[in-house]
Amino acid sequence: MGTPKILILGAGYGGLLTTLQLQKKLNYNEAEITLVNKHNYHYITTWLHEPAAGTAPADHARVSLDGILNKDKVNFVKGTVQAIQPEEQTVTLENGEVLSYDYLVVGLGSEPETFGIEGLKEHAFSIRSINAVRNIREHIEYMFSKFKNEPDRTDYLTFVVGGAGFTGIEFCGELGDRLPELCREFDVDPELVKIYCIEAAPTALPGFDPELIQYAMDVLERKGIEFKIGTPIKQCTPDGVLLATGEEIKSKTVVWAAGVRGNNIVEKAGFEVMRGRVKVDEYLRAPGHENVFVVGDCALIFNEEGRPYPPTAQIAVQEGETLGANLAALVRGDLPQKFIPHLQGTLASLGKGEGIGQVGSKKLFGSTAAMMKKASDLRYLYKIGGVGLALKKVKL
Ligand code: FAD
Repeated sequence: MGTPKILILGAGYGGLLTTLQLQKKLNYNEAEITLVNKHNYHYITTWLHEPAAGTAPADHARVSLDGILNKDKVNFVKGTVQAIQPEEQTVTLENGEVLSYDYLVVGLGSEPETFGIEGLKEHAFSIRSINAVRNIREHIEYMFSKFKNEPDRTDYLTFVVGGAGFTGIEFCGELGDRLPELCREFDVDPELVKIYCIEAAPTALPGFDPELIQYAMDVLERKGIEFKIGTPIKQCTPDGVLLATGEEIKSKTVVWAAGVRGNNIVEKAGFEVMRGRVKVDEYLRAPGHENVFVVGDCALIFNEEGRPYPPTAQIAVQEGETLGANLAALVRGDLPQKFIPHLQGTLASLGKGEGIGQVGSKKLFGSTAAMMKKASDLRYLYKIGGVGLALKKVKL
C-alpha cells in the first residue's frame, strides 16, 4: 500500500472526533485523510431543541469546519454520500463523484425511527439538523400568526411532541419557555395554547431514576406541558394524531422525538444491521470488513449485561477519539486498542436554568444540573476548537 487513504463520512460527533484525532496524531504525509460532510459546518445536535423551539438562534449550534480542520492534513469534501460499495472500497456522492479508500469510517448519524406508525414520515417534524429546526421554529411562529386570522382554529395552537425520552423532554422544556413570549408577541391568550407530550412506554424518560423523572415532569407541567404516558400514537395525519386509546388530538404541529435508527445508507451498503445500526466489534469494525469502522448512532455496542448502549453524543465522541488513535496506530503498523466506553453520567435540560442529571450515584436537580450541562458543553467545545470556540459559543 502507498500512502493509505482514510475516508471519513460525516462530521458529526463520531466522524469529527475521529478526524481531529488523526489530524493530531499523524504527520501530513503519513496518510491521505478525507472528510465528507453534507455541510461545511459541524452542528451541536445536543443543542438543537433550543433553535427548534426558538429559544436560541440556529447559528449558535453551528461550528464552521474551516476553523477547526487543518487543511494541510485533512482534505474536506462538502458533499452528500449516496452509497457505499464496500466490495470495491469506494463511496459515491450525490454529484456522481466516486471516492476510494483503504480505511473507511462511517459516521453518518441517524434518522427518525417511526416504528411503522402510519403518516409520521409524511406529516411530523423531527429535530435532526440545522435546516430541520429552522423549519420547526418558523412553522410554530406561522401557526400563531395564522390563528390571529382564524381564531376558531385552536388546532393551530395545539402542539404535539411524540416521545418523552431525552429529546422530547428537552424540546418540551424549551417550548414551555418560548410560549409566553409568543403569546405576548401575537396577542394570544396563553390558556388557548396546548402542548401534549405523548409517550408509549409506561414512564417518561425510561431508564432514569424515578425521583428525577418526577422532578422533570413537575417542572414541565408547571410550564404547561400535558403528559400522556403509556399512550401509543397510532396514526399521524395532516390534522393531528390518533392515539391507541381512540382519542384524536387536532394539531397542525407534530414533532416526532421518539427514537432513532442508523442512517439507511449503512443498511443499503449491505452491512449487517439492527435498527439500521451495525453491531461493531471491540475495535469498532463492521463484521466481515477489516477496513470499515462505524461510529456514533450508526454503530451498535453492548454493555456487559448484553444490553445495547443508547445512541448518545457522549459515546460517539469517545468512539471517535479511540478510532482516530487506532487508525493512526494501524497506519504506523502499531496495535489498536479495544474500545471501552466510560460513561460520565447523563444530563438533560428542562429549559432555562433547569435540568436533571445522574452522575455516578449522585442525582442532580434544577440549576445544579443545568450548570453541569453547561460545563460539559464547554468541555466539548474546548476539545474540538480550543478556548476560542468555547468562549464564543457557551451561553452563561
Ligand atoms: P451526528 O452528530 O448526527 O452527525 C452526523 C453527520 O453526518 C452530520 O454532520 C450530517 O450532516 C452528516 N450526514 C448525514 N447524512 C449524510 C450524507 N448522506 N452525506 C454526508 N453527510 C451526511 N446525546 C447526549 O449524549 N447528550 C445529550 O444531551 C443529547 N441531547 C440530544 C438532544 C437532541 C435534541 C437530539 C436530537 C439528540 C441528542 N443526543 C444527546 C443524541 C446525540 O446528539 C447523538 O447521539 C449524536 O449526535 C450522534 O453522533 P453521530 O456522530 O453519530 O451523528
